Amino acid sequence: AGPSPETTAAPPKKFPKGVVLGKDGKPCRSCTSFADWASQTKKTVKGGTANPTATAGPPSDCPPDVEQLGRSSWTLLHSIAATYPVSPTPTEQNQARQFMGLFSKLYPCWVCAEDFQEFMTRSQVRVESREEFGQWMCEAHNEVNKKLGKKEFDCSKWEERWRTGWKD
Ligand code: FAD
Repeated sequence: AGPSPETTAAPPKKFPKGVVLGKDGKPCRSCTSFADWASQTKKTVKGGTANPTATAGPPSDCPPDVEQLGRSSWTLLHSIAATYPVSPTPTEQNQARQFMGLFSKLYPCWVCAEDFQEFMTRSQVRVESREEFGQWMCEAHNEVNKKLGKKEFDCSKWEERWRTGWKD
């Protein structure tokens, strides 16, 4: 048998700064911001000139970039914590633990997933109550905020942000 396609592939192309490669050596869309993604392609996006939305997110009917994926995922995660039982049964606690473990393994941005798994080994998910789960989720999100140089969120406000709405 001849060499596999991997061994005959062209030498790796140089990609612009910010473009994260997937484990297949190709640019990973869900690991890269749309602005960085757009800088490596001259493709015309639907309805306009080349890369007119380079500073915004991807068009709504395109695959998500790392930011859109992140915002949607945090919305789901915090909403799960917000609707988690106040006093969960052992079965519900197991389900929440399992869900977070699988989520951290299946998250589509592999660099994000690896760091998140590492965080979860340092700071085990707390699922004993809604309050604990919501606080832990807030701390997990803050860990990513810190890594990205973003402002940390005040975790005493997680429930107002994700369950009850602001008190005014
Ligand atoms: P987001 O950070 O998405 O937050 C959405 C909203 O949540 C905010 O507007 C705010 O109202 C609220 N919020 C913010 N912080 C908290 C908090 N601590 N608790 C409760 N609510 C809060 N991106 C990368 O570039 N690199 C990574 O390695 C990476 N890892 C990620 C790992 C995971 C598990 C997830 C889900 C996302 C990851 N992201 C990563 C995406 C990143 O966290 C952001 O989602 C993305 O940069 C968009 O940020 P944003 O400023 O729009 O708001």
